[in-house]
Amino acid sequence: MEDCMESFSECLFCKIVKGEIPSQKVFENETVLAFRDINPQAPIHILIIPKRHLESILEINEQDTPLFASIFAAIKQIVAKEGIAERGFRIALNNGPEGGQLIKHLHFHLLGGRQMIGRLG
Ligand code: 5GP
Ligand code: ZN
Repeated sequence: MEDCMESFSECLFCKIVKGEIPSQKVFENETVLAFRDINPQAPIHILIIPKRHLESILEINEQDTPLFASIFAAIKQIVAKEGIAERGFRIALNNGPEGGQLIKHLHFHLLGGRQMIGRLG
């Protein structure tokens, strides 16, 4: 597990990665952690994050390709385990202020277990 840089010591999700704040983990490997959202918006609401602190999509570059392959592989495993692979699910990523991003540590929302209403926005 990569340690967070000192400047990110206040990041809530880095604290979850470090185990300083408890979470309901559903998946973990060397680079990716997934845990249940504390305020679920659907019967299944899981956050998937890189363990390394990346604030937003804007910080991603080509070297991060394996990380994102790993994130999508994790999502595939999680939806199978949660029993929603075939039913369907929604993946959302809120980026920046107008994207509705509250926690400045890149994360994907996995929502499932009910019919998603509306398409986007
Ligand atoms: P954002 O708005 O940044 O895309 O989403 C942040 C998400 O983090 C929200 O859905 C919120 O409920 C969730 N969240 C905030 N604090 C905690 C926490 O301490 N633990 C967990 N598991 N989820 C959190
Ligand atoms: Zn962080």
